[in-house]
Amino acid sequence: MTSQTPYIGYGPTFGKKDKLKTVLIPWFTDFLSPMIPAIAELAGYRFVNCPKTSKTSAETGLRYGNNEVCYPATLVVGDLIAELQTGKYDLNAVAVAITQTGGQCRATNYLSMIKQGLKNAGFGNIPTIAVTLGGQAYQNKQDGFKLPIRKIFKIGMCGLFFGDALFQLYSASIVREKRKGESQQLFDFCMEEARKIILENKPKKMLRLLENAVERFNDIEIVEKKLEKVGLIGEIFVKYNSYGQAHITEWLHEQEIEVMIPPLTGFFMQTFVNQIVNKENGIKRTSALTFKLLPLLYKFLDYYKQKFEKIIQKYRFYTAHESIFEIAQHAQEIIDLSNQFGEGWMIAGEIASFSRRGINRVVCVQPFGCIANHVVAKGIERRIKQLYPAVNLLYLDIDGGMSEVNLQNRLHFLIEKESP
Ligand code: SF4
Repeated sequence: MTSQTPYIGYGPTFGKKDKLKTVLIPWFTDFLSPMIPAIAELAGYRFVNCPKTSKTSAETGLRYGNNEVCYPATLVVGDLIAELQTGKYDLNAVAVAITQTGGQCRATNYLSMIKQGLKNAGFGNIPTIAVTLGGQAYQNKQDGFKLPIRKIFKIGMCGLFFGDALFQLYSASIVREKRKGESQQLFDFCMEEARKIILENKPKKMLRLLENAVERFNDIEIVEKKLEKVGLIGEIFVKYNSYGQAHITEWLHEQEIEVMIPPLTGFFMQTFVNQIVNKENGIKRTSALTFKLLPLLYKFLDYYKQKFEKIIQKYRFYTAHESIFEIAQHAQEIIDLSNQFGEGWMIAGEIASFSRRGINRVVCVQPFGCIANHVVAKGIERRIKQLYPAVNLLYLDIDGGMSEVNLQNRLHFLIEKESP
């Protein structure tokens, strides 16, 4: 079977005639998902976000998906099927899409499961799209879908940097704000403005929007208090999706704990480390040209990243994040960088990075069925303890049947143990 061979047993493919269809996408995270339909519109497609992930997503996913897959896969299948079941869509004019990371874990193989789920739920005539950065979908035929990368790359990249920066402003403000709801209101306003800028395809305006956002977040009236910090790491979906992580970030905020979450950009930037490691270790063949172009691409991305960084430094509670190469350097003292399944070595690197910055209480969220992250996260525990004895690491397993109270109890132990 080649990478182009679609999953056997599922007929419809997204052809040229389907270009005008409404394309449903699952909700991922508050600081990125609202911008995705705008980027797609710029690319000539009509993407619509499913509502935020909820209990209905989990129940629907378990009902129509394969319940032995990882929890994020269940939520994604559930999001899409539950939305189709609302009856809001003309089933002849709708398609579904998900991102395909191309990594070694199941995120590359979600589509086959979504197709099976769609069939089980009676939606087996709906075409599917795999959205990939590299442009080539794995095991999905989609002649009608091609992203105009040159047109959307810069604005998409700025959207990503902006989302990370806005999230930092929001996270630090919401635990300190005097008037409840003010940070959320400002966050929603800025996100809506970002959406408009994407439609105009004006990357520079995104920088001005961030300047404005920093000023306005700096103006929010706060309650002066010293806050304890907790780092949150782990699997990408449950880390950034509020329902996926069982709202533990909100709960920690209620306990007056500032939650530090690594920027999403790091997840994408890790490829610059991985490509080198994979070549050196003979894991993957990379053409000489690609290898030459990679540092240039990194430089280009970093140039823009620094522009956003310079602006957000003016925020009164600004926190610097280390570069992906620095994180990798910390990680390789703990684990071999060839461990790239799931979040792989990034888990080790991020714990180390937090500890070096004085944040020693770290929660690692692990979805049910995620062998990739469980193996890495548990496997590095002893080495972490040796190198960073001050770290207090809490692993939280999350699945559809978990009790939020149970998670909160375990968090209580973490935050009370070291509180002054
Ligand atoms: S990293 Fe784990 S939870 Fe995330 S998609 Fe892969 S297998 Fe699933």
